[in-house]
Amino acid sequence: MRSVAIIGAGQAGLQLALGLQSQGYRVTVVSDRSAEQLETGRIMSTQALFHDACATERAQGLDFWSSQCPPIEGIAVNVSPPGARGQPALSFAARLDQPAYSVDQRLKFGAWLREFERRGGAVLIEQADIQRTDLLSAEHDLTLIASGKGDLGRLFENDPQRSPFHAPQRHLALAYLKSARPRAGHSAVSFTLIPGAGEIFVLPGLTRTAQGHTQPYENVLIEAVPGGSLDVFGGVREPQEHLRLMLELLREYCPWDYDRLKDAELTDEQATLSGKVTPQVRRPVARLPSGRCVLGLGDTLVINDPITGQGAGSAAKAAALYQERIIWRGQQPFDRVWMEQTFEEYWSYARYVTRWTNAMLGPPPPHILAVLNAAQSRPGLAHAFVNAFNHPPQFFPWLEHPSEAERLIEQHQVA
Ligand SMILES: Cc1cc2nc3c(=O)[nH]c(=O)nc-3n(C[C@H](O)[C@H](O)[C@H](O)COP(=O)(O)OP(=O)(O)OC[C@H]3O[C@@H](n4cnc5c(N)ncnc54)[C@H](O)[C@@H]3O)c2cc1C
Repeated sequence: MRSVAIIGAGQAGLQLALGLQSQGYRVTVVSDRSAEQLETGRIMSTQALFHDACATERAQGLDFWSSQCPPIEGIAVNVSPPGARGQPALSFAARLDQPAYSVDQRLKFGAWLREFERRGGAVLIEQADIQRTDLLSAEHDLTLIASGKGDLGRLFENDPQRSPFHAPQRHLALAYLKSARPRAGHSAVSFTLIPGAGEIFVLPGLTRTAQGHTQPYENVLIEAVPGGSLDVFGGVREPQEHLRLMLELLREYCPWDYDRLKDAELTDEQATLSGKVTPQVRRPVARLPSGRCVLGLGDTLVINDPITGQGAGSAAKAAALYQERIIWRGQQPFDRVWMEQTFEEYWSYARYVTRWTNAMLGPPPPHILAVLNAAQSRPGLAHAFVNAFNHPPQFFPWLEHPSEAERLIEQHQVA
């Protein structure tokens, strides 16, 4: 029986661990938090997973929640310039062909870690360091680091060609709210772009109550351009103050969301988060002091800003691809060449996610605004735009080529 060690019990690490376990591999997971600590800890993400990513979980029998989780049926885009006071300059919405889902990662990771252990998997609760990683690599045929944004990821070198930024491009503020009214029409990721200031996202999800039941809630994520008018959460520690500031911004920039959220409350004491992410791509293989190699997975290698809501979905897709390649490898060694090839295969998809996400962090160029503008009157274009969130290569080539954007617009009839 081949053995695999995975450091990090998140979307990528746990999905791969459970998948390989079900195929007869002996898997060890190292997590710096127990299932209970994950479940009762601070919120981590808005974690919207679009259909193809959900399908990778479903294929492993790991979709425990979609019958209870409010489906995200579409995406609504509004452009609301500062001073517009509730009059969007541009607005459209379209349905996703299949719904997306946002299951609180605290709920998901806690349950998956318990399930992995219940099925006989070995779990070590500790913060793995280089020495522990090296010991694990001596005891397993393959060792993967899926520690997300954790410090252990610094083992992997930065890839300067794939990493154009050296600092966070947004300051993030997140909260989980309960008792909100549902959006009129279909449910959606409500995405409001405030030129020069940042973006506001509101989307439904499923979380866990203190009693261990599930309940629907709304994610609110504010992506503030540093120093801009949305960047007001620095130093705010008090959850109620965090909520008050969020509602004030919603009232100013997206009253359509504010109206249904204004009487909502935080889901729990850990339901606020603020922080920042420096987008970065790292080289996939690191060499340990013993000379053995380890392979990275998920955010450890490709960290994108959450502006496009792709990190967890990409981690799920990476886990599915790695699992297939590990199985195909049979009894052959998991050497450096195999590791690099496996990541490059993933990168042939993920590079589109990174390029699209990085493009969204700058001021939108005229051809992208032209597509958004045309989507208001061309339902087919709005549908194509919204559904590309499920498979970001579909944003190309038009995203980077004005003439292709023009062609795309012409392909779709005005309603
Ligand atoms: C505000 C915000 C909103 C987001 N919204 C979305 C969204 O809507 N859709 C989407 O797809 N993505 C979203 N993302 C991104 C998404 O959450 C991540 O990309 C995804 O969780 C990455 O999965 P991962 O398995 O690589 O890492 P994680 O899920 O971060 O898991 C890593 C795990 O490793 C553990 N760990 C770290 N170091 C060690 C160590 N040394 N030893 C042991 N364990 C360790 C960590 O505690 C963690 O549990 C968002 C992110 C943020 C910050």
